[in-house]
Amino acid sequence: MLKPINAEIDFEYKCEKCGGSNWITKQETISRKLKCYCGHINTVIPIKYVKITYNCFNNQKILNKQSVQKAINILRGVGYLKSTAETMVLKIAQTNSSLTTDKLVKQAIKEEVK
Ligand SMILES: [Zn+2]
Repeated sequence: MLKPINAEIDFEYKCEKCGGSNWITKQETISRKLKCYCGHINTVIPIKYVKITYNCFNNQKILNKQSVQKAINILRGVGYLKSTAETMVLKIAQTNSSLTTDKLVKQAIKEEVK
């Protein structure tokens, strides 16, 4: 599975004078200045980086999405953070895609305690 090596994303800004919409790239934010088509020069906060979050559920072959989601919910219910619960369950589900919710939870906790 490929991951992008580069991206071109435009950011929309609303001119503080005329309310008009202006689009600039991340690179263009570095100058801190955004000249609107009305002539007003707006000050923008430079963007350092954009974080990409991959959708693991669509990218990986997980046969039992429902069990995975239920297992994540159970772990969250006992106090694990969402991101931690997802990492724990997906790690197990990737190697054993046919596990039931119960087994996913047990295995995930077992791995966490190791
Ligand atoms: Zn303007």
